[in-house]
Amino acid sequence: MEYRRLGKTELQVSALGIGALKYGSVTQETASEIVKAAHQNGINYIDTARGYGESEIRLGHALKKLRLRDRFYLSSKIINRDFKQFQQDFETILSNLQTDYLDILFIHDVSTRENWDKVRSNGILDYVQELRSKGRIRHIGVSTHDCGIGEEIIRTGIFEAAMLAYNPTNLEAEDTLFPLCAAMDLGVIVMKPLGGGVLSEERSRQMGFSVTAEECLKFAMSSPYVSTVIPGLDKAEYLNIALHAVNSYIDMTEENRRAVIAKVDIKVKNYCRGCGYCRPCPQGIPIPDVLKYWNRWEVFGGVDWSQMHRITEEYTKEVPDSGTPDHCISCGACTKKCPFNLPIPKLMEAAAKNLRRY
Ligand code: SF4
Ligand code: SF4
Repeated sequence: MEYRRLGKTELQVSALGIGALKYGSVTQETASEIVKAAHQNGINYIDTARGYGESEIRLGHALKKLRLRDRFYLSSKIINRDFKQFQQDFETILSNLQTDYLDILFIHDVSTRENWDKVRSNGILDYVQELRSKGRIRHIGVSTHDCGIGEEIIRTGIFEAAMLAYNPTNLEAEDTLFPLCAAMDLGVIVMKPLGGGVLSEERSRQMGFSVTAEECLKFAMSSPYVSTVIPGLDKAEYLNIALHAVNSYIDMTEENRRAVIAKVDIKVKNYCRGCGYCRPCPQGIPIPDVLKYWNRWEVFGGVDWSQMHRITEEYTKEVPDSGTPDHCISCGACTKKCPFNLPIPKLMEAAAKNLRRY
């Protein structure tokens, strides 16, 4: 196993860690077996969250029974923005994990301006720093899905590690937050290396992608900015794939990385290229804009809640109420002009049924 420095925390974390999102839905026996096997294979970092159901409890039992608490760096995350509830959540985490300290406490999913304003204004930042000075946590981290807000958060200098989404379908952090984290010496932990499930083998095949889970893990591990990658390891077979990736990612050359990205070009059925030849719509529907969000929804809908949240937010902002797809009267004016023969009225119907607005 390769170990890497996690920025200014100075922790030496294994390049492969465990994301324990789904540990609440596996048996205690399975959770314990995976933790044991992970330890035997050199993994030393596990991440969970207060919002992951019984995950912390399973991990707490496993680590206690196996006497492995001090062999892992353990992190959890809190999404509550109410100060009192945040405090309570922290006590619950320690109790669930059967430990008296966390290696890293993350403020979870600070991805909107409103959310960041709440974190800044309600005492949470002072509180986490107090926890660190008392030794109840060793380091402070933040997780975000928004690179714009993320930049502002990271520039405060309060945080020591950032948990960021990164995979061949989501490269935004690569040119923005990764270099900033490097400049400010924050450790980068990659979440969603499989796109929140979109790039898992089964779903990837359904989407018409030829990329494998192993390739996606190698892709994330081979970024020079990344300290550790934390796929959801809730089955022994996933652990084996991930271990194979960490032991062979070295063959992921720049050329191979580009080839992996090329494999996940969106291939949803009826993919709109955004050329705009179908315009104008007599009903005032901005057809390419609506289809841009509909195409994304077809990939991420029901699979990756953070992407779904972003799609809803951006769709609400970009497409006016007067141009939503339910205004389509199936006149067919657009279909005649689309060079890709997309069944636009049908797509409008599907978009109207499925896309949500705030
Ligand atoms: S079929 Fe619907 S989307 Fe196309 S031009 Fe007519 S009203 Fe607009
Ligand atoms: S003409 Fe077809 S491909 Fe081009 S923007 Fe319109 S629907 Fe999309």
